[in-house]
Amino acid sequence: MKAAVLTSPQDILKRPLRIVEVSRPQPAPGYVLLRVRACGVCRTDLHIVEGELPPRRENLIPGHQIVGEIVVGATKEFPISTRVGVSWVGGVDGTCRFCKKDQENLCDSPTFTGYTVDGGYAEYALVRSDFIFPLPRALDDLHAAPLLCAGIIGFRSIRVAGVEQGDRVGLFGFGASAHLAIAVLRAWKREVYVSTRGASHRQLASSLGAAWVGKEVDQPPVKLDRAITFAPSGDVVVAALASLRKGGIVAINAIHLDRIPEFNYDTLLWGERQLRSVTNMTRSDARDFLQIAAKLDLRPRITVFPLNQANEALTALKNDAVDSAVVITPLARRSSASKNG
Ligand SMILES: [Zn+2]
Ligand SMILES: [Zn+2]
Repeated sequence: MKAAVLTSPQDILKRPLRIVEVSRPQPAPGYVLLRVRACGVCRTDLHIVEGELPPRRENLIPGHQIVGEIVVGATKEFPISTRVGVSWVGGVDGTCRFCKKDQENLCDSPTFTGYTVDGGYAEYALVRSDFIFPLPRALDDLHAAPLLCAGIIGFRSIRVAGVEQGDRVGLFGFGASAHLAIAVLRAWKREVYVSTRGASHRQLASSLGAAWVGKEVDQPPVKLDRAITFAPSGDVVVAALASLRKGGIVAINAIHLDRIPEFNYDTLLWGERQLRSVTNMTRSDARDFLQIAAKLDLRPRITVFPLNQANEALTALKNDAVDSAVVITPLARRSSASKNG
């Protein structure tokens, strides 16, 4: 099969992914073999490909927002040809103290799709049969892919931030995850304040119902109850903290931060303000979010690249060259395509 393979992490401009023929994964008990139809591109993929997350495997196929159809290993719940989704958490041990306490996102021995096991930048992917999710029928493959990490983790961030009725919520950074989170928040009638660099991102935030939009460092005009940061920048976390009322919460939606700068405890954290990280996801986050997405008819904006342009897809994400989610497909024949929905 054709796949995008990472042999040694380096700057994306050096094209670290090689598009090559590799052998198709062998079916195994407890696993399903998927024919990949689309795979979303996530900022975490960029951290893996560029080596900000330490390499865990040689010759890795990245990609953890997989939409595929089952070709081998069908189950009663998921018959052959069923279209399913796969996300970042590809499996947990089920036995550690966290798994036993309904906190499988914190599992001591998880597998991560497209990081510790091969992912979806390929024509086929082998995934655990208990870590696949049914997808909303209304959504086509390309629009469903970004829901699978950007959407689910954005939804988990809303949960971790403890968003309640009547809350004013700040979103700091406005990429794929934030533009799905705002749709959920607006459907729930929450007031949303967006700080982000890039005029096109601010325009998109306005069109999606933000009450206020500002630049990356601008402070919203009112104190916020909750804030979620999406940029991999500690300065943004501090800006989010500075926007909170007493008792407010910042949820950090980032697997990697450049650093956390020194900040003033008396003014920024005192007053029972809280800083929380958002770590991975549970299967119930995935199922709950996908149900909500179906009900809201959530349709992410996407830009599509064929599999053989995986390096270009990651470059576009890194450079903020697109104000949408980025999706790779092994099915495209054209050299590139763009679709907004
Ligand atoms: Zn566990
Ligand atoms: Zn992701």
